[in-house]
Amino acid sequence: MLEIKNFSKSYGDKKAVDGLSLTIKDGEIYAFIGHNGAGKTTTLKAIAGILPFDEGEIIINGHDIKKEPLVAKKEMAYIPDNPDLYDFLKGIDYINFIADVYGVESDVRKKRIEKYAKLLEIYDDLSDPIGTYSHGMKQKVALIAALVHDPKVILMDEPFVGLDPKASHTLKELMHKMCDEGALIFYSTHVLEVAEKLCDRVAIIKKGKLLKEGKMEDVVGDDSLEEVFLELEGENNVVETH
Ligand code: ATP
Repeated sequence: MLEIKNFSKSYGDKKAVDGLSLTIKDGEIYAFIGHNGAGKTTTLKAIAGILPFDEGEIIINGHDIKKEPLVAKKEMAYIPDNPDLYDFLKGIDYINFIADVYGVESDVRKKRIEKYAKLLEIYDDLSDPIGTYSHGMKQKVALIAALVHDPKVILMDEPFVGLDPKASHTLKELMHKMCDEGALIFYSTHVLEVAEKLCDRVAIIKKGKLLKEGKMEDVVGDDSLEEVFLELEGENNVVETH
């Protein structure tokens, strides 16, 4: 379970996220949506333990990210929106490096790397340097590296951007499978049509404040997620939860 309690983050005088509280349960695929600059990446980075924050608590499977960062991070994977990997390494070396950091045994990692790399159709390219990869190929390597330790809390920032249609489809299937096996996924996106079909729950933020959150079908009702989002974007809102 991932619990975000009254989380706030400022950059200088500017409040990027203001008093955000959300709970994401095991098995859920949870969409985090909002306009550019709404505070999604800030929230994801704070959960991942790579951005210090001012107020609130973030608890990952019972472990506070500030008080027990190592234990909390062991359970988690964070896939940033821009896969900034080491260009001089081969894809396989990068994945092995991450697997070493998480202490994944060699026979287990070999099977996982083969499975994910074949599914994402990058297996034959893993011996090439990352510097020669396209954006989508880097994203696939980042994804495999993130999944190689079988994380239970998966954070993704705009995971579908740059992936080809087949890889996007594969990723959606993988997301379902991981959640069926008990993981949870919290991801930011601007692709509302996909989020509407894929996600169990959704949170909508605007200027760092939560506008609406709940089960996808309750939030959407008889409209589409896009219609709900556009309507909320045009309003001065108070929080609604379902
Ligand atoms: P997008 O959809 O464009 O990726 P986002 O919802 O992820 O946006 P954030 O990147 O979290 O938004 O940014 C939230 C706010 O914090 C924005 O107003 C942004 O200008 C500000 N911000 C983000 N990072 C920094 C930083 N390093 N220094 C100062 N301000 C920042």
